[in-house]
Amino acid sequence: MQKLQDLAGQTEITPSSGIETVRHGWRAKCLQRLIRMELPVPKTVALPVEAVRAIAAGTPPDTRKLAGHFGPTPLMAVRSSPANPDWGGPNTVLNVGMNGERHAELAASHGAAHADAVYLAFVQSYAINVARLDPDMFSDEPSPTALAAALAAYEAEMDEEFPQSAAQQLSEVLRSMARAWEGTTARLLRQAKGAPADAALGLLVQEMVQMVGPGLAGFGTIQLVDAVTGAPQVTGRFRGQKPADRKAEETLYLVRDKRGASLEETRPEIFADLQRQCAAARAKLREEMQIEFALENGALKIIDAVKVARSSRAAVRIAVGLARDGIISREEALLRVQPRALSELLHYQVDPRVERDRLARGIAASPGAASGRIVFTAADAQTAASQGEACILVRRETAPEDIRGMHAAVAVLTERGGITSHAAVIARGLGLPCIVGASDLKLNLRDKTIVTPDGRTLREGDKITVDGTSGEVLAGEAAMLEPALDEYFTTLLHWADNVRDIGVRANADTPDDARTARMFEAEGIGLCRTEHMFFDEDRLTVMREMIFADTAKDRKVALDRLLPMQRADFIALFDIMAGLPVCIRLFDPPLHEFLPQDREGMRELAEALDKPLSDVTRRVEALSEFNPMLGMRGVRLGVTVPEIYEMQARAIFEATVEARRRGAEVVPEVMIPLVSAMREVELVKNRIDAVAAAVRNELKCDFDFKLGVMVETPRAALRAGDIAEHAAFLSFGTNDLTQMTYGLSRDDAGRFMSTYVNQGVFAEDPFHVLDADGVGELLLIGCERARGARADLTLSVCGEHGGNPESIAFCRKAGVDYVSCSPFRVPVARLAAAHLALTEPKSL
Ligand code: PEP
Ligand code: MG
Repeated sequence: MQKLQDLAGQTEITPSSGIETVRHGWRAKCLQRLIRMELPVPKTVALPVEAVRAIAAGTPPDTRKLAGHFGPTPLMAVRSSPANPDWGGPNTVLNVGMNGERHAELAASHGAAHADAVYLAFVQSYAINVARLDPDMFSDEPSPTALAAALAAYEAEMDEEFPQSAAQQLSEVLRSMARAWEGTTARLLRQAKGAPADAALGLLVQEMVQMVGPGLAGFGTIQLVDAVTGAPQVTGRFRGQKPADRKAEETLYLVRDKRGASLEETRPEIFADLQRQCAAARAKLREEMQIEFALENGALKIIDAVKVARSSRAAVRIAVGLARDGIISREEALLRVQPRALSELLHYQVDPRVERDRLARGIAASPGAASGRIVFTAADAQTAASQGEACILVRRETAPEDIRGMHAAVAVLTERGGITSHAAVIARGLGLPCIVGASDLKLNLRDKTIVTPDGRTLREGDKITVDGTSGEVLAGEAAMLEPALDEYFTTLLHWADNVRDIGVRANADTPDDARTARMFEAEGIGLCRTEHMFFDEDRLTVMREMIFADTAKDRKVALDRLLPMQRADFIALFDIMAGLPVCIRLFDPPLHEFLPQDREGMRELAEALDKPLSDVTRRVEALSEFNPMLGMRGVRLGVTVPEIYEMQARAIFEATVEARRRGAEVVPEVMIPLVSAMREVELVKNRIDAVAAAVRNELKCDFDFKLGVMVETPRAALRAGDIAEHAAFLSFGTNDLTQMTYGLSRDDAGRFMSTYVNQGVFAEDPFHVLDADGVGELLLIGCERARGARADLTLSVCGEHGGNPESIAFCRKAGVDYVSCSPFRVPVARLAAAHLALTEPKSL
């Protein structure tokens, strides 16, 4: 026998060969464990990652020697073996080595039909996966002439005969698999699953088992859990091969089935054996395994064992189950679930009780439902997302360059494509609701419209709902049901809470948000953006009266009307949060955001306020700014129009007293936005302290509160030492801090962000993943100076980065006490924080 160690590092897997997961991949290691368990695994040779890299770069191994290791007329399967099974990998190619000679041998021993079927399957899989020919060239129906037709089609398309040399076939298969791994789509998909940029692939060449013979023969898979729910259930399939000595194909189901005989009933001893082996593999490999097996003349062969492919929901249940059975530790269970995968469990579903206004139907390609405005290009999706607008990306079909737009969208809808189309595969990978193949919609990309089968025309910006669970496109914003979160999800996150060393709060502006935050067990509200409370119809008018007031007295009249509304808002939040901390940010946006932008709106406003139109237009013009995001907003308003903050502070304190009367120990946190100088804080603090004293006095009730500052201008980060002297806490608003550090508008960056990322100017969109080098340095300086001035200060991050695992890692090392993110990202943040506590030291 050849010594395989001589073949450029290739290694036959035996109980004692040096197989390492990092070098040979997870599947190779797994097969070695099965071999060590003395399971009947066919001969397998592992090609290490360096050999596969060399193949991709154009240096193939000596495939003549390699194929020769499997006999003079070898038949081989080639399988991928990445270091982590979650990273995907090219599909297995079976029956490499099949050629005319082998076909004749097989026809003589097992009949022409069997030989034809094996050869045809190989020609098709080789043509599609290796030669990259169009799958439509081949008919799906097996027929006596199909093999000859497939060989002829191959020859016509490639201008050469179907390769007959096993070594040549093997060489080409290895090359195409090595190259597929390097492709952009494969790379982005695995990176979304946490693979490093330089993740490598190992490959395995395995002897094919001949699943034919006089006794029971066939091929199947078995697993002990349901792949969607993770619940215990033996599932799998079995395909009997036509025995050489019998006419009919033996159809056997794996488990008892109404439709016909099963392996479970007819061969209970084999079935029991399989179950035993599956359970043993679970215990030994410490993972829920799907075993791929073959029966050859009634004898069992274990060809492969792979981690059971699973939905995110099943992943959680399986991890919790393994830990409860003592097979893995709780910590390991936590590490088995990718934080990002949790977001898939949190999907909204369209409420089945409401009537559906269906626009079209397509293929349900990725579950969950989402509503948003229609956009037709990936760039527009990114622009919409950067403005905080939920959008649905509608394309004829998607291509790899759309992936960042898909990231930015809340759902994807395509006119073409099937369940394995680019859009479908990527959307599932990203956990985005997706419908593909909605072919009864007529897309007109030039004038950006969609015509529905019943003749309605939808335009860019119109709201629709994509129900990726049912495949229905609905008009408008459908009522949604919140996701059901099961016991396993809750258990896993409680385990996460026990190990993590950084807090997680939610950004919540409304009672609904607050309830979601509670449902996801956020430790409080880290940011309540109060301005959102003023956009209701009735409040907007009063707000506008306040803005239009000519004197402080008139302004007070309007603010006095807003006060009870604000107080009610805060009472509601305090009630829902039941004593958990609530951090309320004082008014932040420029006032002009509350004014109408067009003439018609101004006319209506003039009418409502009983003022001449010219007054309204003059005031709107006076408030308009060249650069509103850097203008009169945040604390600058607090200093120049102090009555607004005073009203808000009073509403907060009166609500506190009310909540305390109802029995909740509320200590509100009041936060000042957009600070850049210590004096701003001093001025606002004095006024707020005075309001607190007045409320205590008027209501004869004592209460505490905390005053804090948002660090979202670079100067505030640099001067965090002085600012900390007047603050009980600092919260980094990394959205504005990123905007101002880069001098890059949050609302406009989407237009060119993809170009910047594609050309490597930025490694990632810095509004999505915290820029550790620049913004991160300011954050570090801010933390250090603030803590230097006041060691007991609470530090947090409340920008969008608070829900991003990489950014959480940075914040934690910077010494931040908690992160705060949108409610739906809270579970992801809790698990990500637990991963960090388990895998990374806390300080920089
Ligand atoms: C921030 O700037 O990071 C922040 C949280 O505030 P907003 O997004 O409301 O500007
Ligand atoms: Mg901000």
